[in-house]
Amino acid sequence: MAKLYFRYGAMNSGKSIGLLQTAYNYEERGQRVLLIKAVVDTKGEDFVVSRLGVSRRVDLLVDADDDLRALVRRRALAGAQAVSEGGWEQQETVPLREVLDCVLIDEAQFLTALQVDQLMEIVLVDDVPVLAYGIRTDFRTVSFPGSRRLLEIAHSLEELKTICRCGRKAVFNARKVGESFVFDGDQVAIDSGDVTYESLCGKCYLAAGGRLLCQ
Ligand SMILES: [Zn+2]
Repeated sequence: MAKLYFRYGAMNSGKSIGLLQTAYNYEERGQRVLLIKAVVDTKGEDFVVSRLGVSRRVDLLVDADDDLRALVRRRALAGAQAVSEGGWEQQETVPLREVLDCVLIDEAQFLTALQVDQLMEIVLVDDVPVLAYGIRTDFRTVSFPGSRRLLEIAHSLEELKTICRCGRKAVFNARKVGESFVFDGDQVAIDSGDVTYESLCGKCYLAAGGRLLCQ
């Protein structure tokens, strides 16, 4: 039975290289994968880029309005038809499982809760496994909508680990503007230019001025 996997971790925990490795492993066995990147606007870069220098163009960029199950089906069938000689006369009857072996999602925290449910339908109805990679919480320790839904319904949760500046496991994503940590602002601020992120453990997060919002 196919499953929905959520592999989450702080920034720089190797999510992108893990995704690219998984894609490689599938394709090495002759299986077909679809790479999807969730973006906060459609101007996002259409590459999965790892810090180790490996990168790959994604098959689909999705934003909040897209129906993921419909998009995946359309794209997988189009790709399969391009390599089949006659194509299918009745595409709507072709089971997705016959043309696709795995869906991989980068930046899954940016999905909507509804889109995560659509992924679950791909798993449960179409019997195609979905592996989502993303960040659990934002710079104020609050979950992203896509991450929250994945934590609620994924069959499998796996934490990808990285190290804080002090050597402990990092769990939070602290935002910096220039050299200073900031703890107020919009949930999404893509790291570019002045805005950067540092993965910190809880102790270092508090020491840098962060607070836990439930207190
Ligand atoms: Zn620390």
